Amino acid sequence: MGAINGKEFIERINRLRANIWLDGKKINGKISEHPAFKGLLQTKASLYDLQYDPNLQNKLTYLSSETGEPIGLSYLQPKTLKDLIKRRTMMEIWAKHTHGMMGRSPDYMNSVVMAFASSAPLLDGRENCFPENIQCLYERAKKNDLSFTHTFITPQVNRSQLNIDFSKEPISARIIDKNDHGIIVNGARLLATQGGLTDEVLVYAAGGVYTEADAYAFSIPTDTKGLKFICRESFVGGNSSYNYPLSSRYEEMDTILVFDHVLVPWERVFFYDNTDAANEFIQQSSFHHYATHQAVTRQIAKTEFILGVAGLLVETINVSTYQHVQAKLSEIIIGLETMKALLVKSEIEAELDQWGYLRPNITPLQVATNIFPRIYPRFSEIIQLVGASGMVTLPTEEDFKSALRTDLDKYLQGASRPAEERVKIFRLAWELTMSSFGTRQTQYERYFFGDPIRLSSLLYKTYSIDKPIMQVTNFLEIDK
Ligand SMILES: Cc1cc2nc3c(=O)[nH]c(=O)nc-3n(C[C@H](O)[C@H](O)[C@H](O)COP(=O)(O)OP(=O)(O)OC[C@H]3O[C@@H](n4cnc5c(N)ncnc54)[C@H](O)[C@@H]3O)c2cc1C
Repeated sequence: MGAINGKEFIERINRLRANIWLDGKKINGKISEHPAFKGLLQTKASLYDLQYDPNLQNKLTYLSSETGEPIGLSYLQPKTLKDLIKRRTMMEIWAKHTHGMMGRSPDYMNSVVMAFASSAPLLDGRENCFPENIQCLYERAKKNDLSFTHTFITPQVNRSQLNIDFSKEPISARIIDKNDHGIIVNGARLLATQGGLTDEVLVYAAGGVYTEADAYAFSIPTDTKGLKFICRESFVGGNSSYNYPLSSRYEEMDTILVFDHVLVPWERVFFYDNTDAANEFIQQSSFHHYATHQAVTRQIAKTEFILGVAGLLVETINVSTYQHVQAKLSEIIIGLETMKALLVKSEIEAELDQWGYLRPNITPLQVATNIFPRIYPRFSEIIQLVGASGMVTLPTEEDFKSALRTDLDKYLQGASRPAEERVKIFRLAWELTMSSFGTRQTQYERYFFGDPIRLSSLLYKTYSIDKPIMQVTNFLEIDK
């Protein structure tokens, strides 16, 4: 089969009939027609359709050496700089298509699955580890162009470092039994963006595992018996792309996952009851390298879009001559160019790992993932500060079709635009930064790759400062 198109994706997701709950009701019927999901699923389908666009196919897919079929390029295991750049070009095309608004375009998790498979030998010969199951997943995913979500954190009940959940009925999902068929998992996990909207769910810990029952990793189909997805409220404002240009297309949904005695078949388990594997695999694998290479590529596309929105606001109400406005737009430019430079540096300084895969250099990517959670909320603030009252004087498409039109045309025109266009631009700026969709985007960029505080602590712990310290001790002529 290989790379799929949009129609195939929609048909497959509709067939799944996952156990998804929204607003107190279980979702029945075709998920692709549900108001909370249809815009997002159509956008995802349009990404898959690009794989068969004659002008893009060779940039978005590669030919399988075994079957000759086209395979989604985010599954490519890079061995050369050319491969790495091919991967980035593919990710850029999808990110630009969605203006960086879709945090979970399928290439993100495809890159994670590819990274897991590339590093699977880390589990070779270790107790209760099945690296061959990771390889199988990767082959199956490539062959069927599977899509994934993932969950790597526990319910936010008590985050004190002294708290270990020994409750009899598990809150955090853990292994409660094993039998001939597999492991039985019970409890909950947070937080799966696009939960229920992908073919499979990858479940693993991002470290900090102390007990064997919590030390597992696996991938299961979204419609596995006993698996339930609890949605937050939908942030889709409505169908109109004039009123809601972003949420009508890119609202991804976030879900809590409940495992009610879920049987995970042995052939889907990557490891179990092995705390060392649970604490080491993510850190030692190429997970961070390839996941952040994708994330930073997307964040650059998003920053370009934000710069475009800010630039349009400035032109529309003609505030470009004010120095503080110029300085604010420069802040976005500085963020954009910094992110771009870090991405290129990660590629130029890429290194082959022990299995011959070229990993983008992690340091510039770690720096980028430390910078973006700080600058993204500021970008949002800049748009609010430049837009001022325009961010709330926002009549709708229906208002323009009503008897109010003459008033609106007169009083809501911009220096360089008629009222209908001016409001269209401001509605976009509002959705991007002030709506429930927009503020969720800010929270996403702060947290989706983990807690920014702990990410900066990881950078400090993994960055060698021996040389700078030695320079100073040499200068002072003291011992190191
Ligand atoms: C929109 C959105 C989408 C997401 N999508 C996904 C997804 O698809 N899959 C997934 O697995 N996760 C997802 N996440 C979750 C994300 O991984 C977590 O938000 C992130 O890892 C932080 O964990 P937490 O939210 O539990 O925060 P907590 O760990 O509960 O932290 C709360 C506060 O306490 C502080 N704190 C807690 N513990 C420590 C500590 N040990 N040291 C220092 N400070 C500490 C934190 O700095 C923070 O200020 C998503 C999050 C958001 C907001």
